[in-house]
Amino acid sequence: MASRPLVIAHRGASGYLPEHTAEAKALAYGMGADYLEQDVVATRDAKLIVMHDVALNDVTDVATVFPGRARADGRYYAIDFDLAEIRRLRVVERRRAGTPEPLFPRRFHSSDVTFRVSTLSEEIELVQGLNRTTGRSVGIYPEIKEPRWHREHGIDLAVLLLEELDHHGYSGPEALVFVQCFDSAELVRIRVELGSNLPLIQLLPYSDRAWREMTVTDAVALAAHATGVGLPYEHLIVAPSARTTTLEPAPLAAALRAAELSIHAYTFRADQLPAWATSFRDLVRAFYADLRVDGIFCDHPDIAVDVRDSLHARSR
Ligand code: CA
Repeated sequence: MASRPLVIAHRGASGYLPEHTAEAKALAYGMGADYLEQDVVATRDAKLIVMHDVALNDVTDVATVFPGRARADGRYYAIDFDLAEIRRLRVVERRRAGTPEPLFPRRFHSSDVTFRVSTLSEEIELVQGLNRTTGRSVGIYPEIKEPRWHREHGIDLAVLLLEELDHHGYSGPEALVFVQCFDSAELVRIRVELGSNLPLIQLLPYSDRAWREMTVTDAVALAAHATGVGLPYEHLIVAPSARTTTLEPAPLAAALRAAELSIHAYTFRADQLPAWATSFRDLVRAFYADLRVDGIFCDHPDIAVDVRDSLHARSR
């Protein structure tokens, strides 16, 4: 292995504690992750918070604390609340969308522990503070969520994020940050119009039809302005027909590499294995060792670190 591939803690150590809480991030840091992921959305008073969805329904008690504040579609949008209001919410383990059922039944479920929503600023302070106290250099990995939707609501998420990153000392191509977004026009805007030279990651969706019908050449071209791509790991391989540890790369994998784009694959979950996988460790090992990805997004970063480090030790 030429250089050590990355472990990116997906929403923190979200396999163990409710996603995007400070507790889940501190745990991921302690487990040895290289980068901690933040999904970023805005509040009504234009504060950036770390939250996967633009609505608060599936990971907080918003319906109980603020009854009557949902829109006609039944959802409670972060952008309809001031930060002071969002600070009153408790974060809980993710529920299946629109239901009271847990999405991952074996994950952390206790109503006796109070978790809160973090601002992006607080989370960056947490990571930088831990970098000072441990002497490590762990990075951040913010995702701009639904930039057009935010703009329709009067918020320029990219500009706010870049200001926040600049304020916290992230600048230039070597900064310990990857800025990710599904919207390629937004990443082009960040690079060209806003003049940022931070590392950018073009995300490719799991099931979007337009993307599935795209040629390999088009997919690579989509990321031309980026440092790398973040994509579902299934898109990098030919789908196996039976249980196996031997994975055949899809043409896209070679094309991305030929274009010198870093490959960050998502999302590896120990409690959500594909039918063809023999074990979680085998799955992670195959993508690090055989597919030679540059990083993986993982809900269980301790296992990814362990597998990655054992491969790396062997190759030295
Ligand atoms: Ca994300």
